[in-house]
Amino acid sequence: METYDVAVIGAGPAGVMAAWKAAESHARTVMIEREPSPGKKVCAEGVLADALVDAELKPSSEFVSNYISGAVLYAPDEAKKVNVGGKGYILDKPAFLRVLADRAVKAGSEARFETSVEDVERQDGLIEIQCKRNGQPATIRAKLVVGCDGTGSIISRRFFPRKSYQAITALQYSMTNCKMDDETKLEIYVGHEKAPAGYIWVFPKGKGDANVGIGVKGAGAKALLDKFIEKHPTAFGSAKIQRTLAAPVPVGGEVESYVADNMMLCGDAAGQVIPLTGAGIHTGLVAGKIAGEEAAIATLSGNTSAENLQRYRDRFDKLWGQRISNSLRALDSFERFSDHELNIITGLLEGQDLVEMANGFSPTKAVGLMARHPLLAMKVAYQLLTG
Ligand SMILES: Cc1cc2nc3c(=O)[nH]c(=O)nc-3n(C[C@H](O)[C@H](O)[C@H](O)COP(=O)(O)OP(=O)(O)OC[C@H]3O[C@@H](n4cnc5c(N)ncnc54)[C@H](O)[C@@H]3O)c2cc1C
Repeated sequence: METYDVAVIGAGPAGVMAAWKAAESHARTVMIEREPSPGKKVCAEGVLADALVDAELKPSSEFVSNYISGAVLYAPDEAKKVNVGGKGYILDKPAFLRVLADRAVKAGSEARFETSVEDVERQDGLIEIQCKRNGQPATIRAKLVVGCDGTGSIISRRFFPRKSYQAITALQYSMTNCKMDDETKLEIYVGHEKAPAGYIWVFPKGKGDANVGIGVKGAGAKALLDKFIEKHPTAFGSAKIQRTLAAPVPVGGEVESYVADNMMLCGDAAGQVIPLTGAGIHTGLVAGKIAGEEAAIATLSGNTSAENLQRYRDRFDKLWGQRISNSLRALDSFERFSDHELNIITGLLEGQDLVEMANGFSPTKAVGLMARHPLLAMKVAYQLLTG
């Protein structure tokens, strides 16, 4: 039986980066993915420009569907909207992941597609991975495993309790023939009536194509999304739904523990998602990159202890930990505002404040803004009291 230094489970954003970095650092690496090709999971495919910088990839028509110049956030009554800056891309995510997976293979990683991991065990200081390909069982042995296997992660189910793990349902239509005001802008719609404790997104892919979806706590996602589409006949009156897909999004912040002897979790499996926006591509890419580097250092130096692997978590948390926990707090407070309050707040906040709050840069920003605009703050208070 072959023994690898590093086995990466999953070829999502986290896995393709982990396999690339581990192989590039000369660790004998295998990436195992149950699907025939990467990127089968539904996604709205939106990223800010920095995500590609961190992926160490230049934007290319090979995997960028559309260039984005910002976003428009609509208040619950849609009477007010806030323009938010921020350049980014709508990816063709399967093509993007294919490019990244090919890069991992070029760096020396083996890639096994259509191979499902069925069980993982510790065996004599190594990790034994039981797989199935075309119904045939196979065993892969590795010094270290990186679980980049998403929300249903088999590694976490077997070895990490993930008590704080919370996921919401996200449902998305791939639509054609939409008529958007501006195809370079993302559209975000909030409101407890429209999307309880979540939001609706319209991410234009260009030429009338769009990813139109909803993330909500609890049931009823499809009925709410259908109602939204029906209420926007200008945009969707002649549009067609080509595909409907749903998947969970982890919104509870990073899990308590995601490093153990010979093991690390990455991306959605570790809850490394910005809770308020549900964005996990960028965080997953960065986590995978760091995990791959640390996995190679650990296996090649012969020290795969949890203590040694903790450096992965420390490095990731230094970059993203605070932002994820700030965004989790922002999500909690956002849930406490009524639609009426959100209408007023949307009218008061500037676009950049909102995007910074959502991305977890500064949860006190809104309070600070109120303090800097006492007359507006009084107006809010008055409207809240009399409204
Ligand atoms: C509807 C929706 C819209 C979203 N929109 C955005 C967005 O616009 N922008 C953004 O940044 N984020 C978005 N996200 C979140 C983003 O998709 C995830 O955070 C990101 O893909 C996580 O990457 P990952 O590598 O951790 O996991 P995943 O992308 O889930 O990849 C895990 C991989 O592991 C494989 N796998 C799982 N189990 C096994 C097994 N037992 N054996 C072998 N392989 C296995 C899976 O097939 C999969 O390929 C969205 C999510 C949803 C559901």
